[in-house]
Parts: sequence; structure tokens; C-alpha cells
Amino acid sequence: MNLDALAPWACDPRRTRGRRIAEPPAPPRNEHQRDRDRIVHSGAFRRLVYKTQVFVNHEGDLFRTRLTHSLEVAQVARSAARTLQLDEDLAEAIALAHDLGHTPFGHAGQDALAACMRAHGGFEHNLQSLRVVDQLEQRYLAFAGLNLTFETREGILKRCARRDAERLLRGEPDGPARRFVAGTQPSLEAQLVNLADEVAYSTHDIDDGVRSGLLAVEQVREVALFAHCHDAARRAAGRADADAKLVLAETLRRMLAALLADLVAATAAALAAQRPDDVDAVRALPPLARFGDALRAQLLELQRFLLRALYRHPQVLHNTAHGRTVVAELFAAYQAAPQEMSPEYRAAGAVDRARAVADYIAGMTDRFALREHERLTGRRLFAA
Ligand code: MG
Repeated sequence: MNLDALAPWACDPRRTRGRRIAEPPAPPRNEHQRDRDRIVHSGAFRRLVYKTQVFVNHEGDLFRTRLTHSLEVAQVARSAARTLQLDEDLAEAIALAHDLGHTPFGHAGQDALAACMRAHGGFEHNLQSLRVVDQLEQRYLAFAGLNLTFETREGILKRCARRDAERLLRGEPDGPARRFVAGTQPSLEAQLVNLADEVAYSTHDIDDGVRSGLLAVEQVREVALFAHCHDAARRAAGRADADAKLVLAETLRRMLAALLADLVAATAAALAAQRPDDVDAVRALPPLARFGDALRAQLLELQRFLLRALYRHPQVLHNTAHGRTVVAELFAAYQAAPQEMSPEYRAAGAVDRARAVADYIAGMTDRFALREHERLTGRRLFAA
């Protein structure tokens, strides 16, 4: 991309705050492209393909996984970033890394691991994503982690409790945790990725929900945004007996396009009103990336529907409850017998053992966690 076409409020990779360990440039790639490439080549990124988004990985080959979700977020974020003259490569890097810290079995796995770690400093997937790129990936001779630029790390640390932020700041006073104490915002590229995440899951979870048979199209029509796009898709199909699958695909395409267009228009309007001088001015202002009020309300309605009808569907809860048990029992098993972990996690002393166990479990794919659980407990919880 042409860096001279970036808006003044974009994150120009030529003006990065840099890496924790200085490295010589690597032309022709700029620093944000390099970050993106490091993420794509990481082991944690490859493992996303076998991690649950909503449906446990073995439930079907056609459902989204953390990997395909991350690719869809990257696509939405890049489209928005390009239109707004922001740095697409940075938006892409943040999007591809945003879920690297997720445990197996989605939110159930995260909740179970957080409960196990309550007395050992806690566990939170946003912090874990940063930990993966800062420490856990082992691929370079000169440093642990991927040694990413500040801007990418700032975007990856999307949420952080004040207590955690204060702990992180003791190790890195000007690090990405600072904004959670200072009350400032991240770059626009990072703000956009957060909203692109909502655009992606709000549309693709309907698709997976209907495809799995857990949601009926008539039921989703309770949601105004969906009903509106579904009516338009039916009209475009022109026949009452049009293939329902194609009409659904057309509906979701229209929804995604409407959300993206609104995100770009509302953000452009906020930028036109504020005209920040540079990215530091962006950080000091309230959030500038946004949906318009009307679409924000509709998106909220859609997300409430998904929570009620899909994420809390008895079948989803049944499977995620198993995931919770797998994670809790693995944690107890490795605490008691650390030699059962792979060698790089075994070395931790008694003080750091719980953290090493959490890192090991968090990095697992759904199916590896199931295999390990069966090996260590002799029980099989999913009929895979
Ligand atoms: Mg996500």
C-alpha cells in the first residue's frame, strides 16, 4: 500500500514506536507487514484452526473456528481501514492476533481456566493473547515471543483490568497497558478491529446457528436488522420458492455490507468533526471508531438475540459444559503431575507452576485437550 496516502491520524509504520528489542529494517516489508507475517507463521495462529468459536471443533467441518473467524475479522477490518486511509497491514495484524490467547472450548474453557487460576494471578484471554506474542512463541534466536511493534501489541491488548495493568506497567512503564491506567484509547486501527470483530461474529454466528439447525430463520426474523435484510434478499430472489440457503447467504451478505458501510460512514463523520492531528491525538480523544446510533441499537438487539437463542441454547451449553470439565480436570492433573506436560512447560518451579499449566492448557486445540483428558483420566466426555 502507498504509505503517503495514509491519513494524518493513521498509524504510519515509518513512525512506529518500535519493538521492545530493536531490529534492523527488513525491506521491502514495512514494520506492520512484518508483524502480520510473524503472526501468520506462529504456532499459536495455526492452532486456531482447531479451536472452538461457538461450536466445538468436531461438531462439523463447516462451522467457523477461531481461525476462520479471525480471517473474517481481518477482511472486515481491512476493508474499513482502506476506506478510511488507515494502515491496512496494522489492522490485519491486530485482527489475526486478536484471539490467539483463547483457550480450547471457547468461553467455557476461558471461564474454567480463570476459575482454576483465581488464587494464582488469574487468567484472561486478552492478556493471554499478549503473553503469546510477547513470551510464549519460541521461534527466534535473539528473543522470546515475536517481538512485535508497540502498535500491534496495543491493539492485541483490547481489555485489561486495572490490577493487571498496574502489574504489566511495573515491567514496562510505557507499554500497551498504560492506557488502562491513563484512561486513553488505542489507535484507530485497533478501535476498528474491535468493531470488525462484532460485525464478523454477529453475521457468521447466525449462519452457523441456522446451518446447525439450532436457529430457525423465522426465529431470527425477530431481529429487525436481520428481518430487514431478509425481506430485501427475498425481493431480490423474486420468487417465493427461491432456495432458502441462497436467500440466507444473500441476507447475511447484505447485513455485513450494511454494518461495514455504517461503520465507515459513522467513523468518517467522527473524524471529520474532530480532525485529530496524529495518532497521539486519536489516543487522547474518546473512541472515534463507531457505528451510527440506529445501527448500534440494531446490532445490540441482534447480539442479545444470539446470546439468548444460540450461545445459551441447551445443546451449546451441554457441549461447553463438557469443555469446562475437561479444562478443570486437566489443570488438576498437570498440577499434580507436571511431568505429563510437554518439556518446555515442565521446567517451571513450584511458584510458577500454575502459570505454566495455564499456558499449556490455553495453547491446546479442542481435540488435543480431549485426547490429553482421556489419557490422564481414562474418561471420554465427547463422542467424537
Ligand atoms: Mg474475536
